[in-house]
Amino acid sequence: MSVLVYIEQAEGKIKKTSLEAVSFASALAAKTGEGDVIAVALGSVDQAELASVGKAGATKLLHASDSRLDAGVIQAHATAVAQAFEKTGSKTVVLAKSSLGDAVAARLAIKVNAGLVSNVVELPNTDSGYIVKRSIYTGKAFAETSLTTENKILAIKKNAIDLKTDGADAAVESLEVNIPDSDFGSKITATERATGEVLLPEADIVVSGGRGMKGPENWGMIEDLAKTLGAATGCSKPVSDIGWRPHHEHVGQTGVKVAPSLYVAIGISGAIQHLAGVNSSKCIVVINKDPEAPFFKAADYGIVGDAFEVVPKLNEALKAEL
Ligand SMILES: Cc1cc2nc3c(=O)[nH]c(=O)nc-3n(C[C@H](O)[C@H](O)[C@H](O)COP(=O)(O)OP(=O)(O)OC[C@H]3O[C@@H](n4cnc5c(N)ncnc54)[C@H](O)[C@@H]3O)c2cc1C
Repeated sequence: MSVLVYIEQAEGKIKKTSLEAVSFASALAAKTGEGDVIAVALGSVDQAELASVGKAGATKLLHASDSRLDAGVIQAHATAVAQAFEKTGSKTVVLAKSSLGDAVAARLAIKVNAGLVSNVVELPNTDSGYIVKRSIYTGKAFAETSLTTENKILAIKKNAIDLKTDGADAAVESLEVNIPDSDFGSKITATERATGEVLLPEADIVVSGGRGMKGPENWGMIEDLAKTLGAATGCSKPVSDIGWRPHHEHVGQTGVKVAPSLYVAIGISGAIQHLAGVNSSKCIVVINKDPEAPFFKAADYGIVGDAFEVVPKLNEALKAEL
C-alpha cells in the first residue's frame, strides 16, 4: 500500500505547496500504516527537482515526462494520476489545494470512485472512522467531514503542515501513461504575467500597504521592502479602488486570498474584510501608528509607529542581515 501525491510544477520547478502535500502524506502514511509515499509528477521537470521530493518525505517519484502535460491540462492530468493510482494500488491521493489541484481532484474522484475533501488543515482523526477537518468561510470556521469511501482524496490547505526537509532523495522512475487525444481538447496556449514580480497568490512573503501610506508616490517604500524580502506586494481594497495600486494587488474577502509564510501589513487598519484574505498566513507582522488598530489583534508581531520612519529603518536592517 502507498499514499500517492499529485505534484504541481511551474516552469519545471516543483511548487512548495506540493512539497507540503508530500510532507502531509508522509505523516498520514505513518499514522495510518499506508506504507510508502509515492509522488507523481507530470510534464518537463528538472531531474534534481524530481529527486528532491524525497526530502519532503516521498520514497519514490513516478514521472510522466510527456511535454504535452507541461501546461495544466486538467483532464489529462486527472487521467495520468488515475493511471498511477491503479498502478500503485494506492487508496489515498494527497495534493495541494489550488485552482488546478481542485479541478484535477474533482475529475480524479469520479475516475477512481473516491471521496474528496478539500482545504484540509490537519491529519484526519482515525480514532473512530475517518474524520477530516477542513477550513471553511475563508478561514473563519472549520467543518469536520466523515469519509466512508475506500478510496480517498485530500486537498491540503497551504501552510497546514510544516515542510519536512530531512528525508533522503527519492528514487525516480518513469511512468508510462496512455492519455487519449480527447483529454487535450482544452489546453492553455499562452500565459502572460500581470507583473514581472513575484505573483501574489503564490508568494511565500507578502508586503501590503493600506491607506496609511497616504498616496501612490510613497509606494517605493513598500516595493523596496518587498524586494529585500523577495516578496510580492499587496494592498487594501480602498487603495486599489482609488487607483493607487492595480486591482490584482487587492487582498481580502473581495480580492486575492493569500496564505504566505509571512504577511507584512503597513498602514492597514485590519478590517474584517481584509483579514478574511490573510488569516491563513503563518506569521503576520503589523506596522501601524495607531496602537488600537484592530490588525494588532491578529498580529504575531506588531510595531506601533509611523510607517514613514519604521519601514525604511526596517528595510536597511534587513538588507544588512540578508
Ligand atoms: C462588502 C465589503 C467588502 C470589502 N472587501 C475588502 C477587501 O477584500 N479587502 C480590503 O482590504 N478591504 C475590504 N473592504 C473594506 C474594509 O472594510 C476597509 O474599509 C478597508 O480594508 C480599510 O483599508 P485601510 O486599512 O487601507 O484603510 P483605513 O481603514 O483608512 O486604515 C488606514 C490605517 O493606516 C494607519 N496609518 C495612518 N497613517 C499611518 C502611518 N503614517 N504609519 C502607520 N500607520 C498609519 C491608520 O492608523 C489606520 O489603521 C470591504 C468592505 C466591504 C463593505
